[in-house]
Amino acid sequence: MRLRPILLIAGLAAPSLVRTAQTRTIPFWPDEVPAAIRAEIDGNATLETVRELSRFHRVHGSPGFAAAAEHMKKKLLAAGLADAAVEHFPADGKTKYAHFVSYSGWNPVTASLEEVSPQPGLVESFPELPVALADYSQDADATAELVDAGAGTNPKSYEGKNVAGKIVLADGDLPSVMRLACKERGAAGFLSDFPNQTTAWSGDDRDLVRWGHLSPYALDNKFAFMLSRRQAARYRERLAAGEKIVFHARVAAKMVPATYDVVVATIPGSDAAAGEIVLTAHLCHESAGANDNASGSAAIFEVARALRAAIARKTLPAPRRTIRFLWLPEIAGSEAYLVRHPEVVKRLAAGIHMDMVGGLLATTKGTFHVSRAAGSRPHVASEIAAVWLEHVVDASRRYAERGGDPYAGLVWLPGSREPLLADMRALEMGSDHEVFEEASFGVPIVYFHDWPDVTIHTNKDQPENLDATKLGRVAYLGAGIAWTLAALPDAEAPRLLRTARAQCEARVSMAQADDSRDGLLAAHEAIETERETLRSIATMWPATSSAVAREDERLEQMASLVRPPAAPGADARVPVRNPEIRGPLSVYYFDYVADALGRTATGPTASAGASLDTRLTNRPEGGVLSYEAFNLADGARTVAQIRDVLAGRYEPVPVEEVGEYFDLLARARAITWK
Ligand SMILES: [Zn+2]
Repeated sequence: MRLRPILLIAGLAAPSLVRTAQTRTIPFWPDEVPAAIRAEIDGNATLETVRELSRFHRVHGSPGFAAAAEHMKKKLLAAGLADAAVEHFPADGKTKYAHFVSYSGWNPVTASLEEVSPQPGLVESFPELPVALADYSQDADATAELVDAGAGTNPKSYEGKNVAGKIVLADGDLPSVMRLACKERGAAGFLSDFPNQTTAWSGDDRDLVRWGHLSPYALDNKFAFMLSRRQAARYRERLAAGEKIVFHARVAAKMVPATYDVVVATIPGSDAAAGEIVLTAHLCHESAGANDNASGSAAIFEVARALRAAIARKTLPAPRRTIRFLWLPEIAGSEAYLVRHPEVVKRLAAGIHMDMVGGLLATTKGTFHVSRAAGSRPHVASEIAAVWLEHVVDASRRYAERGGDPYAGLVWLPGSREPLLADMRALEMGSDHEVFEEASFGVPIVYFHDWPDVTIHTNKDQPENLDATKLGRVAYLGAGIAWTLAALPDAEAPRLLRTARAQCEARVSMAQADDSRDGLLAAHEAIETERETLRSIATMWPATSSAVAREDERLEQMASLVRPPAAPGADARVPVRNPEIRGPLSVYYFDYVADALGRTATGPTASAGASLDTRLTNRPEGGVLSYEAFNLADGARTVAQIRDVLAGRYEPVPVEEVGEYFDLLARARAITWK
């Protein structure tokens, strides 16, 4: 326990510094600044933007996405963001963005599913129910009998059944059912009730119709209609009772060469050499897609509109750093944009990504999470986010408990009046921040996301589950963090340094569980995380350089006291990344490892399971651990050293599992051994 006395001394210094700063709402800002932001943010207008976007069926590379992008551009121009534009990146199954092979777009026009006999009637139709037709379905006009194939993802599902020319009912993953039922056995198409992401509420609502998608790489796709669990169960019962059910399926839809459309707008900074701050949201998906992700799109629009308005009104000055706003087709669009704009990547200092941020939490059953920047690239953006989040949560709680002024409580009536249920947590996977934070681009991002959401990826993800107060709070939070990163003057930077230091020290003092090697690693990596965080302040606010250098010297000494010796017999191999791979190995529907190992990319779930089947990736946090292992492969660290960083910053994984994962990457030529 030799670390304890040192930490005690460090810990004593911090709280008094914070206390003097607490006469301000935000320790590193005079109160006029949060007040100027609060004055411009409109939660009700943000909810209205959600409603507007929800009307577009926003599948990647579809006319609905293009229309939503144009709509966003018009709104930005009207709000005074004069450079708003839409950039188009080919999405055609051929064009590559580094290792990522783009996939086709999709043009759905109409579709209907009717029961012909014995109970004639319309079951569902597109576009009346936008999620009725699985994405990347294609033209059909088929009258055929229904056959139950169970999951439909295993040849056994089809034993003793003739599905040729028939319509199959299956609840397995859609690309696999398409392959086995339609391509290999001649079925005309299928009906699917593939289940949704699992939450504690799974199965409660049997009328949810889930979004479905076929492989956007498979140009010979037939069609799939999506059913609720209740509908599918009734058909299964009727088939089991010996009924012959005949359907008429009509589809007018085609997979087409298209583009990934990215909406770009900036609030120009006063110092072109000072770098940029980026705010991102994916503008897809299925209509309504209100929380996922009209909400994030609307919230970053509100940040753009509000900051622009405050600058025009001169309640805020022009920021020093440019603030760049991007609305993207999720992950694929981020990959295309960053690969094609290396000059922008160089300027991006840090950012915020918003994906699912507007849920009325009492309805969606979620918590609002702010994930820190990746553990592989600690940044003061996470510390700034923690301060603003605490302020928003405090204001919301005070109002809910005591009433009073809704304006001060960050309440937008008739929106909700409840306290904001929120937390700060470590990196989680699942959206565009994976691309920005990946080591080739290296942009630290804080990630806003509601989870869980009982309506996710279903027809019930509707604007009525969202809340003006929640959206206003999130937009205010995003604006506050972005404004701090972009515009904090040098004169305030020492206060930011003190705050960030205090927060990091608190985590250092919590880090070491025991004197085991992994206990020491936890302490060591917490100190290294603090060093990297403080150095990011010096980079962004050079006036703090000498103060940061002094802190860094002290922390280096502390780190050396707890650094454990190398483990005996550790894996000393050094992985070197294939320079052609920029961005994450999996880019939405594209799985580099599966592709390189000669398997067909059939969709994120199916291909990830097939290709990334290692002990590391199969851990509950395997997505984060493998992503970060690849990020930490800098051509200098050994497998054992990468393992130690993962162990100290995430969880103590066995070094053999890390080595096994890199062996897989070596087979796929994602890395070579030095
Ligand atoms: Zn999303």
